[in-house]
Amino acid sequence: MSTMKCITKVAPEHGGLAFEDRPIPEPGMGEVLIKNKATAICGTDLHIYQWDAWSQGRVKLPCVIGHEFAGEVIATGPGVRHVKVGDNVTGEGHITCGFCRNCRMGDGHVCESWKGIGYDMDGCFAEYVVHPEQNIWLNDKDLPWELGSIQDPLGNAIHTVFAADCVGQKVAIYGVGPIGMMAVAVCRAIGAAEVYAVGRRNQYRLDKAAECGAHHVIKGTETDPVEYIMDHTKGKGVDVVLELSGNPAAFQNGMDCLRMGGDIVLLGTGNKPIEVNMAKDVVFKSRHIHGVTGRKLWHTWYKMQGLFASGNLNLDPVITHKFPFAEYEKGFQLMESGNCGKVVLEF
Ligand SMILES: [Zn+2]
Ligand SMILES: [Zn+2]
Repeated sequence: MSTMKCITKVAPEHGGLAFEDRPIPEPGMGEVLIKNKATAICGTDLHIYQWDAWSQGRVKLPCVIGHEFAGEVIATGPGVRHVKVGDNVTGEGHITCGFCRNCRMGDGHVCESWKGIGYDMDGCFAEYVVHPEQNIWLNDKDLPWELGSIQDPLGNAIHTVFAADCVGQKVAIYGVGPIGMMAVAVCRAIGAAEVYAVGRRNQYRLDKAAECGAHHVIKGTETDPVEYIMDHTKGKGVDVVLELSGNPAAFQNGMDCLRMGGDIVLLGTGNKPIEVNMAKDVVFKSRHIHGVTGRKLWHTWYKMQGLFASGNLNLDPVITHKFPFAEYEKGFQLMESGNCGKVVLEF
C-alpha cells in the first residue's frame, strides 16, 4: 500500500473538504514518519471548515488540515538522532525556525517565522504524517493515543494557567469550550483554591466544566457573573482571571471581578478590538495583563507530562466524542453545534 487517506480543504466555501488519496510521504533529512493513531478537531479546523475571514487570508488550497495528533514512529529519515521507530509521539504543531532571537532565547512560541501545520502547510488529518524531529514530543509509552492527540489545546490551557500563579488562588475562567474545560482541570490539579467557570448559554459545556471540577459554574444568560463572583469573594474579586472566550463583554466582566493587583491572562481571540479603561482597570489597580499564544517550547510540554504523571489531571469529561477517521463530517457538524468537548478521530 503506497497511498493514504487525507482530509483536504479543496474548495473555498463552507465545508469544502475532500477525503483524498495521497502518496504516503517519505521522511526526509531530519524528519520522522508517523503512523497516525488519533487526531483531534480544533476550533481552528472549524474556522477553516467554515471558511471564515481568517482562513480566507491564511490558508492556500488545497491543504491537508489538522494539527492535533498522536501516533507511532514507523520510519526515520537521515540525520534523525533521538527519535526511534516504535516511539509514541506527538508533534508540536508550530514549526519554529530555531534560529531567530526568540527561538534562541527560549521563546519558540513567539518564533518570528513560525508556521502552523494544517494551515500554513499540510497538516495531520492523514493516515501518515511526516514531522521534523526537532518538533517531536516523546510521549510516555503508555499515554493513550486520545490523550496524546489533545496536547496542543491542553498545552494552551497549561500555558494560560501557568502564566499567573493559580496555586491556592481564586480563579475565574471565562469561556467553557474545550480549552476552558481543560483550564478548569489544570487549576484543580495544581490546587487552585476556588474555580469559577463562566459560560454564556451552552449548558452542555457548563456541565462539562463542572465535571472537570469547577467549584462554581455560572451561566451568563441567567446569572450576572460579576455580581456572583463579588458576592462569593466578600466584594474583593478573584486573584486571577483566565479569559478564554475572546468576547469583549467577558473581558470587561473579567476586569470587574478581579481583585486589585490581580492577573488577567488572555488566550481567547475575537475579531474586533477590545476597549480597555487603562487608568481605571489597570494602572490604578496595579493589575497585570498577560497575552498567551501557543505552548512554551518546551516548558509547557514538560509540565504537561508531569501533570499526566501526577494522576491529578481529570480530563475524562473533556474528550466527549470519538469517530472513525472516515466519519469526520460527523465530527465537524458536532463541533458546529457546540454540544461537545474535544472530538477525536481514530484510525
Ligand atoms: Zn488546536
Ligand atoms: Zn524562530
